[in-house]
Amino acid sequence: MSDDLRVPTPRASSGAARVSHGPCVLLKHGEVFLKGRNRHRFTERLHDNLRVSLRGVGGSTWIKTAQNVTVLGGHVPVEALVERARRVVGFNSVEPAVRVPSTLDGITAAAIDALRAVSGVRRGLRFAVRVRRRDKQFPLTSSRMEVFLGARVLDAVPALTVDLTTPDVTLNVVIDHKETYLSCERLPGLSGLPVGTSGRALVLLSGGYDSPVAAHRAMRRGLACDFVHFNGAPYTNPSSVYKAYALARELNRCQPPGTLHVVALGKAQKQLAVAGAGRLQVVAQRRLMVRTASALADRIGAQALVTGDSLGQVASQTLANLVAVDEAAALPVLRPLIGWEKQEIIDEARSIGTAGISVLPDEDCCSLLAPPRVSTGARLPHLRSVEKRLDLEEVVEALLGSAQVLRPGEDEEAPVSGDGCPAPA
Ligand code: ATP
Ligand code: MG
Repeated sequence: MSDDLRVPTPRASSGAARVSHGPCVLLKHGEVFLKGRNRHRFTERLHDNLRVSLRGVGGSTWIKTAQNVTVLGGHVPVEALVERARRVVGFNSVEPAVRVPSTLDGITAAAIDALRAVSGVRRGLRFAVRVRRRDKQFPLTSSRMEVFLGARVLDAVPALTVDLTTPDVTLNVVIDHKETYLSCERLPGLSGLPVGTSGRALVLLSGGYDSPVAAHRAMRRGLACDFVHFNGAPYTNPSSVYKAYALARELNRCQPPGTLHVVALGKAQKQLAVAGAGRLQVVAQRRLMVRTASALADRIGAQALVTGDSLGQVASQTLANLVAVDEAAALPVLRPLIGWEKQEIIDEARSIGTAGISVLPDEDCCSLLAPPRVSTGARLPHLRSVEKRLDLEEVVEALLGSAQVLRPGEDEEAPVSGDGCPAPA
């Protein structure tokens, strides 16, 4: 690497000296970056959600935006900031970083420190330096700065070697007007659209693998989610409610917490069985669930329902049965997993942290009164004649009247202790 560089005149340091040093986290915006005139609305929501995720982190925090990157810092270990930021939908990547004043000396010293820290891991580690110069007044161009820093690092840490094509570690340097950010690690974020920018939905949350994954996907498309769980009470034990609560709490880690409504469906399930639902019992129950969920959604201001249905996964999810369920819903039923295979769903459940809860045994309301063979082709006239024997409006009203409203995850959060940009050091 050539060191044949004209050493630029050091920049006047009066302004830069006011910029504080220290660790921070760089958060690259995802799809928000593609938005046009209303981008600021998406960015504001993204930051609101980030602030909510930082509640109770244990110290004051600050955020600021530099183009399509949010910088996060505070009097909190950077690992804790990284952990919180990785739960926020809308950031493509999360990079633990250090910020220094944009002076040649400051950047060089920080580059050497950063790479010296990683060089301890293995001798002969291959590295590359990538520089982005946002401040076009900075005296060296990006490529000259890459060469300059690379040479200085090699002088200071001879155990390293340069490799620009397959480096073990890449030092990313972003030179802004006052501050420069240096990072060696880029972790994937949750990407997608900030929760809340697409509206509000009510998720039908069972204890299984599918519906939590569907909820997570809905959240990543910008839907703020509340949850409704139906259990078989008084004929089943509360195990499925504990699971739904734990699942909602896990999902709420990725959004400003939504509420969980628990509806005891057992008696109404019996009424459908007595009314002669027979092989249509499961589809009739699903229709009652979406009817009740639609009424609940209306009350809480949700514009759509979300389920974990996947086409043909089980008998109740044939096209004919899904059509029969839709007919009973007063709102659109969104099914993010409609084309997913079970294994894909389980893999995703593992990666988002819900699989360990879903796998636990429970007494599920759908197994209660399920016929030995579920009909794969629900006939609407038959379903309607069964339902006519019940006063559906009254049943739905009673179900909602006795619903329990829980707030999973809210109890764990303390208020944010500080916000806004940091005071100059
Ligand atoms: P999952 O689909 O979540 O693994 P499951 O297999 O028990 O659970 P299915 O029979 O596949 O549920 O039901 C399809 C969808 O109907 C679920 O993904 C969920 O959205 C909804 N659903 C089923 N049972 C319930 C329930 N007890 N409470 C709320 N929603 C439910
Ligand atoms: Mg399922």
